[in-house]
Amino acid sequence: MKDILSYIQKRRKWLKYKMIKCFILLGPPGSGKGTQANKIIKKFNFLYLSTGDILRNAEKYDENIRNILKKGKLIPDSLIIKLITEYIKKNNIENGILFDGFPRTINQAKTLDLILSKNNAKISIIFIISLNLKETILRIKSRRVCSICGTNYSIEHNKSTDKCKICHGKLFQRNDDENEKVIINRFLIYEKQIKPILLYYKKSNFLVNINGLEKEEEIFKQITKNIIKRN
Ligand SMILES: [Zn+2]
Repeated sequence: MKDILSYIQKRRKWLKYKMIKCFILLGPPGSGKGTQANKIIKKFNFLYLSTGDILRNAEKYDENIRNILKKGKLIPDSLIIKLITEYIKKNNIENGILFDGFPRTINQAKTLDLILSKNNAKISIIFIISLNLKETILRIKSRRVCSICGTNYSIEHNKSTDKCKICHGKLFQRNDDENEKVIINRFLIYEKQIKPILLYYKKSNFLVNINGLEKEEEIFKQITKNIIKRN
């Protein structure tokens, strides 16, 4: 009997140790999620999972996805879930996972629970970065991305920027960042989607609110502090 109990205790400790932690970043386009995500994965070595990146990669060989993204419309849940499941299978998740912009619907949130439990993982924190429409439009219109390393720049803040400061790659404007109507549409879709998600997770202790108007460094400090506390 004593042996069994000690075995169970050991096993529980091991399971607790092995349980993979997931962190989630949610916020409207332009809220700096991508920039924060970059810093977080460098510091904690998590697997980075951005539905935006996965979709932009998939659109290269899928015309259907290309058309949906161009119009700023919704991607069906089933498609996103399929792409995420494939991505988790292909990559190492031992240090943890950072989800960027996922889940966006209740259906995705429920499926995420399933995907995670199958991979012995669970949600630890959901960071909600808030930003208003006016600031969102301003930031996205001035956003430029390095064609080599993917670093984001704002031409508002660095007016002379045409090359990447890190790798000297050429900067470009993402297709979906040019059109104000598309930006507004993406913001409104986000607003509409986030409300039920917040309700869904309200009773959990996952939610941490972050003010997106704060400086990049300050936001990173807050996020890091919270991750260390719960990791
Ligand atoms: Zn670069």
